[in-house]
Amino acid sequence: MGAELARLESAGPDFAHIDVMDGRFCPQITVGPSVIGALRTKLRKDVHLMIEEPLDMIGDFADAGADVITIHVESTRHPHRVLQAMGALTAAGAHSRPITRGVAINPGTPVTSVEPLLEEADLVLVLAVNPGWGGQRFAPGTERRLESVRSMIERCGRDLMLGVDGGVTRQNVAAIGAMGVDLIVAGSAVFDGGDPVANLRQMREALGGAAQG
Ligand code: ZN
Repeated sequence: MGAELARLESAGPDFAHIDVMDGRFCPQITVGPSVIGALRTKLRKDVHLMIEEPLDMIGDFADAGADVITIHVESTRHPHRVLQAMGALTAAGAHSRPITRGVAINPGTPVTSVEPLLEEADLVLVLAVNPGWGGQRFAPGTERRLESVRSMIERCGRDLMLGVDGGVTRQNVAAIGAMGVDLIVAGSAVFDGGDPVANLRQMREALGGAAQG
C-alpha cells in the first residue's frame, strides 16, 4: 500500500483517502488506526469513518496521523458532539495542526441533516453510493444534493469544503468536477484497469485543475 501510494504521489493527489468500515455501519470491514498509523506517505491522510458511534475512536485516528477525519451523520445520535470533540484534537506529527473535520451523508439521508453541523465542520462529504456495497453507479440525485449543500454552506458563511465520494469513474469525473465540488474521492477509477498513476493523471487533466482529488 505504501509503495503504491509513493508512486501515486507523483500524479499530484491532495489526499490519501482511507475508508474505515466496521461491518456494522456498513457491510464490510477494512482497516483501523494501526494500519493508518503504519502507512508511510507524504500525502495528507483523509480518514473516512463508516463506523457506529465514532466518539470513542476519533482520538485513536488522530494519534494514528489522520489529517482529515470524516464521520457520518447517520452513525451517531450525537454528530454535533462528535464534531465538537474532534475540534479539540490535533493531528499527530510535527505540525500539530487541528484536525480537518468532515461530516458525510449517505444517499438516503435528507441533506438538511448536515445544516445544524456546519458550524462545527470544515468539510461536507456527499456520498453518491451506499457505502460498503460494490458495483453501484453514481446516484443521479447527487448533483441536486450537492447543489443544496453548497447553498447551505453559502448561507452559513463559513469556508467549508464540499466533497463527493463514490461512483466516480474516468468517464464521469469531468462532469462531476463541473458540479462545483472542491474534493473528489476516487478509488476503483484509479486502481482498476491500467496504470494507477496514468489513470490519476488523466482524471486530473480532465478536471483541468477545477477540483482536487
Ligand atoms: Zn470514502
